[in-house]
Amino acid sequence: MPIATVNPATGETLMTFDALSEEAVRERLDRAEAAFADYRTTSFAHRAELLNRAADLLEADQETIARTVTTEMGKPLGAARAEAAKCVKAMRWYARHAEHLLADEQPAPDDVADSGAVRAFVRYRPIGPVLAVMPWNFPIWQVVRFAAPALMAGNVGLLKHASNVPQTALYLEELFRRAGFPAGVFQTLLVGSGAIEGILRDPRVAAATLTGSEPAGRSVAAIAGDEIKKTVLELGGSDPYLVLPSADVERAARTAVTARTQNAGQSCIAAKRFIVHEQVYDAFAEAFVAGMRALRVGDPTDEATDVGPLSSEAGRADLEELVDDALRHGANALCGARRPPDQPAGWFYEPTVLTHLSTDMRIHREEAFGPVASLYRVADLEEAIALANDTSFGLSSNAWTRNEAEQERLIRDLAAGGVFFNGMTASHPALPFGGVKRSGYGRELAGHGIREFCNVTTVWYG
Ligand code: NAP
Repeated sequence: MPIATVNPATGETLMTFDALSEEAVRERLDRAEAAFADYRTTSFAHRAELLNRAADLLEADQETIARTVTTEMGKPLGAARAEAAKCVKAMRWYARHAEHLLADEQPAPDDVADSGAVRAFVRYRPIGPVLAVMPWNFPIWQVVRFAAPALMAGNVGLLKHASNVPQTALYLEELFRRAGFPAGVFQTLLVGSGAIEGILRDPRVAAATLTGSEPAGRSVAAIAGDEIKKTVLELGGSDPYLVLPSADVERAARTAVTARTQNAGQSCIAAKRFIVHEQVYDAFAEAFVAGMRALRVGDPTDEATDVGPLSSEAGRADLEELVDDALRHGANALCGARRPPDQPAGWFYEPTVLTHLSTDMRIHREEAFGPVASLYRVADLEEAIALANDTSFGLSSNAWTRNEAEQERLIRDLAAGGVFFNGMTASHPALPFGGVKRSGYGRELAGHGIREFCNVTTVWYG
């Protein structure tokens, strides 16, 4: 994949970049190693000062970086601004809380004595340069979600960003440099995915985190496993969205539209499979389809646009194949299932709702990475749970019910890293984020995220 900015709204190639040579990558790894030697000894207060400065700079740059993001991957400007604001918040959150999250842990006095110690505690120490392989869909958020905790923990970051967001990737390196982080503490490596193996096998790289597709995760985890290096994987999802009889159906339908179409549906935690109890199915389906039809698809720089283009021609082709396969096997499209006729250029696709789905369809098993909803009717809670779990993914899940017994049952039985009631899945710095099954392992955000790349050190005094 060439490293280039290609505007998804027009298909025009705006800027191309040469990949770093092996020699240039080596120099950057040297720099990361040297930077870590000093940076790991800095205080939390100092790191927080730098991270808060980065947050201030990003806040001031909001409009320019939002335009870069929109140009490179096609999300509407308002959404790109909101992404930048979310990053500012996460940086400030980690600047404020990291020291507390990584404070020494004291076992119970009885247990310390039982271990034969006069004193014992646990200290979270940094582990070194961490490689972050990141996707284009939230091109600043995915990086900041990794970088803010990593830098606060005393690690240093090496970013291999998706090849279609090089300007955003370079902006992020520059942002941390301008904030005052020493050279080498956060570096962008403009390389294709073919260069990852060499970087990951380099002894100077301590660990890796990858957000992206299943094949990319499998490859990075296999190499890291071979090198006995820790990984965190945030992979795909096909999140269920259950609507049960006690739901506020009108709100559930309105939220469903946003949950399925934000970022043109290119979100790992987008609700993708809508599983609706027969008692409320007709009312939900009518409101949901009306909401999907009402969305404005078009130019992402137009403030009135709800849904921009998909990020690449290949991404739209993959989505079209999934929809065509479903239609060929007997699915019914209540809306969409086509390119908008008034958008001849760019990689647009109409918001789509499919019904009459069956297990032999690819869309039943695979992730639809675009604005295409699968709508299922179920007879009861048992069937809803069975269908929700009938997937190889397990990122998050959503359920609309006001019945507490049902809620407890769903917390117990939904096989996912999150269960969101009466709302849609969204990440927040204070709440851990991640999945089970083929959605990956490990957690980002909150205390769980910052501890992933720490050396959990037992200190014992005899
Ligand atoms: P992708 O192809 O896997 O790309 C993501 C990153 O991995 C890019 O930097 C890419 O580099 C690199 N990459 C691609 N193939 C690789 C390989 N074989 N080995 C090592 N690295 C490789 O993902 P995508 O299709 O662009 O992004 C969408 C996917 O990401 C979806 O499945 C989505 O659900 C998932 N995602 C998950 C989360 C989460 O938090 N769980 C969040 C967002 C997205 P190049 O660009 O150079 O190929």
